[in-house]
Amino acid sequence: MSKRPTIVIKPREGRRARAGAPWIFSNEIVMEGAAKALPPGTVADIKFDDGQDFGSGFFNPKSLIAVRLFARAPSVAADENFFAARLKRALALRERLYDRPFYRLAHAEGDGLPGLVIDRFGDTLVVQISIAGIEAKLPVLIAALNKVVAPKTIVLRNDTPSRSLEGLDTYVRTEQGIAGRIAVEENGARYFADPGQGQKTGWYYDQRDNRAFIASLAKGRTVLDAYSYTGGFGILAARAGAKEVICLDSSEPALKLAEESAAANKASIRAVQADVFEEMTRLAAQKERFDMVLADPPPFVKARKDLEPGAKAYRKLARLAADITTPGGLLMMSSCSHNIPMDRFAAECAAGILKSGRNASLIHVAGAGSDHPMHPMLPETAYLKALVYALD
Ligand code: SAH
Repeated sequence: MSKRPTIVIKPREGRRARAGAPWIFSNEIVMEGAAKALPPGTVADIKFDDGQDFGSGFFNPKSLIAVRLFARAPSVAADENFFAARLKRALALRERLYDRPFYRLAHAEGDGLPGLVIDRFGDTLVVQISIAGIEAKLPVLIAALNKVVAPKTIVLRNDTPSRSLEGLDTYVRTEQGIAGRIAVEENGARYFADPGQGQKTGWYYDQRDNRAFIASLAKGRTVLDAYSYTGGFGILAARAGAKEVICLDSSEPALKLAEESAAANKASIRAVQADVFEEMTRLAAQKERFDMVLADPPPFVKARKDLEPGAKAYRKLARLAADITTPGGLLMMSSCSHNIPMDRFAAECAAGILKSGRNASLIHVAGAGSDHPMHPMLPETAYLKALVYALD
């Protein structure tokens, strides 16, 4: 067997890596000709300059995150057995957490599988690959999935824009089985999703626990579910006995699925297709108020350079949402941007609520559910924030 390449970390570099993080940035690597010429996603042994092993990783000379470590030991192969072992561990954790097979099965570095996200909907798996190293291993990954999970259908949703950072193209493909509309079971409700066409993998499992928390407070209340997508929050609230639920989103197909899911749950919602900022402004002018206002927008801070305008947008959203929350009502603000840290997000929400002239108590601080494990040395894997305020 041919010896595989060794990538060397520059002297005094790789501080985060030495502390346990699984990433090495391109400027931290001795990038001479041989390393530069390696194809994106090459499996390599990674060493510190003093010869000490860092481990086995995927190397991409074209990416800012040049090394994604997948094992702490050198010479570990990224083969079918490797993927099967990691997937077994991930599956065992989910089976301990949930009764039914509906969850995020793999959450990238949080499950020791860099660049790989897999959502499970019963016997359908939706796979999202974001790095060249995993893309190059697709056949053994599929074999491992069939060994460990044996799904009927596997859909590849390889259309995340971040793939371009790794030099990968984007595509959506049904790898096996038949893709189409599927059912999602969550918190005792049944929703519809369309993994081939919906946003991301078709469903946002990350808000599962937050949906349950909101629904537990919704009985007899009016609820505005802003940025509802296919109704994850709103339908559960309606099922829990909310008096009135409006699902507000700009996406027509998402709202159509929300209406169908609501009907399947014998829950009543009203779908409104509009821009959230415009609709909240209009509702405020008409003196409409809701006992619960939920705002779960798309990422406002897509890149670090967008922090200031994005932070301002969260502040404005909090103000508009507070304007239409009843006295004694609850306001949930959520952010899925990992580029804005929790403290900054909370500060912007507080400023927006204050600007609306309201007093608030923060009653609930949460992130994603346990099927989105974080890598303890990689704060980037903790992206979701959900804050619930009680307003006077
Ligand atoms: N709360 C949802 C997930 C929201 S994802 C859930 O629990 O599943 C963000 C949603 O915001 C998407 O459905 C997208 O269509 C919608 N969206 C994006 N920009 C919007 C805008 N300006 N006005 C209204 N909806 C918007």
